Amino acid sequence: MNKQFLIKDAHAVLTGAAGDAARSPATDIRIADGVITQMGCGLLPQPGERVLDARDCVVYPGWVNTHHHLFQSLLKGVPAGINLTLSPWLQAVPFIYRKAFDERRLRLAARIGLVELMLSGCTTVADHHYIYYPNMGYDASAALFDEADKLGVRFMLQRGGGTVTRKLEADQSTYVEPETLDGMMGDVERLAARYHGRGARPMTRVALAPTTATVSVPRGELRQIAGAARRLGIPLHTHMSETVSFMEHCRAEFGCLPIEYLAEHDWLGKDVSLAHLTHLTDGELALLARTGTGMAHCPQSNARLADGVARAPDLHRLGGAVSLGVDGAASNEAADMLSEVHFCWLMHRAHAGAATRPRPDGAGEAGADSVSVEQVVNWASDGGARVLGFDGVGVLAVGQAADLAVYDLDSPRYFGLHDMAIGPVVAAGRPRLKWLLAAGRVVVEDDAIPGVDMAALRAEAAADVLRLAREV
Ligand SMILES: [Zn+2]
Repeated sequence: MNKQFLIKDAHAVLTGAAGDAARSPATDIRIADGVITQMGCGLLPQPGERVLDARDCVVYPGWVNTHHHLFQSLLKGVPAGINLTLSPWLQAVPFIYRKAFDERRLRLAARIGLVELMLSGCTTVADHHYIYYPNMGYDASAALFDEADKLGVRFMLQRGGGTVTRKLEADQSTYVEPETLDGMMGDVERLAARYHGRGARPMTRVALAPTTATVSVPRGELRQIAGAARRLGIPLHTHMSETVSFMEHCRAEFGCLPIEYLAEHDWLGKDVSLAHLTHLTDGELALLARTGTGMAHCPQSNARLADGVARAPDLHRLGGAVSLGVDGAASNEAADMLSEVHFCWLMHRAHAGAATRPRPDGAGEAGADSVSVEQVVNWASDGGARVLGFDGVGVLAVGQAADLAVYDLDSPRYFGLHDMAIGPVVAAGRPRLKWLLAAGRVVVEDDAIPGVDMAALRAEAAADVLRLAREV
């Protein structure tokens, strides 16, 4: 397989870096053995290099998706949950279906989700998988790593689950038995030894990720879990502060705010990422920024479930770590990264505008600068790699991983753009993906994934949706 490429004559290159480095003046990118070795203009092909003609194309860093539940790729638009908020939705959709997943079904769902992400230009996927229970009969973690490996993308397993049954599901007939702490830790240790890549540009990583730190494990175990992760040298991840009732529960149960609760149990730091954080006080925001704790911002899912709007721009302004995740497809039927960045870019402007109050000087308009295209791209690439700890990934620069998307803006939606570089974010839709490279390998070519039969995948998904409806 060819390991040397020269991307030639790109119309524009967004690097994923912050600030002035967000756009590169380079038109050509040289790649060898999975790494970017040269960027510039007028580079000449060398012997053995395959030239990828990027004329009229824009080049982006491969997206880094920091929060997902791939199993939900077979649970899109379930009618019973389409108009519900988080808690009743959890009961009506993901919880009900959990036990219906065996290895075959999990692999199918993972393949659908990964393929969807890749066709949007995503090269690093973190999956917060939480279907684990005693004697479940299959190795869900190994199946997920294997599906990602077959498609050639970088993959982090955020190993979820819990040691208590949460109130929400206690009376459900489909509830899954909790694990013991020893059982959970033993499995995480096994996974870390087998899959946790250390050093630059790892292909796989593992995080210790109790599903929701305030309800999935008892108070006494939370600090122990943080200690175990640090002993193993792996990061921590969990759902946090998704709704108003989440905060109320924390206040009632623990007498403090969720982020204060985490601080009390050693659960903040650069090695911790938290999904959602839709509701934060100023004090919590400052605490997150000061400790470098990462936000996995999931704007589409938060909108779909009416959770609210996370203060990602505020956290960013305080110097905090922001990244983007699509969350599970059962609460985000557009679980691809292009939809996510587009929506993120729009939503914060709408939110800022909605909060604008009339002013005596008549200047009652504000918010269109709340987040720029370059900023959203940074969150969804470099920001994500930093939050997940994928060193050497996320930015297009010499010495960095060759994870990049070459978009051909060849449909009318993109005609007439004065700045083609911003097309994939501002115009939405899905431009034709001429090439997607992950770790310097072509994993998508001319909008197709080698080895993936899309018609067969579609038929398999349709048949399985019918089976699921019958079974549950
Ligand atoms: Zn989630």
